[in-house]
Amino acid sequence: MAAKSSTKPPGGMSSRAVIRPIEAGCTAECPHCGERVKFRARHRDDQIICNVYVDGKWDRVEQFHAACYAEAKDPHGEPHKSETKRRGKKAAKQ
Ligand SMILES: [Zn+2]
Repeated sequence: MAAKSSTKPPGGMSSRAVIRPIEAGCTAECPHCGERVKFRARHRDDQIICNVYVDGKWDRVEQFHAACYAEAKDPHGEPHKSETKRRGKKAAKQ
């Protein structure tokens, strides 16, 4: 009797989370603490952006403070670093 089976639908249609820097003009509210996810120029704060899927369908986006997301115990899975291109820092100087 397996207590848990993987309920992940195929094709990656499940909720996922990425870490991104908070952008200026962000007006989202963190669902964990209910406060704005605010951009602060001097702080390079991170947010967790979650694409939330319900029954295999995209439902909504949630934006958490990075600390709140950790506190909520990764409700939408472990956050991934958003992919950045790994090019272009080479060969600028010699
Ligand atoms: Zn929060």
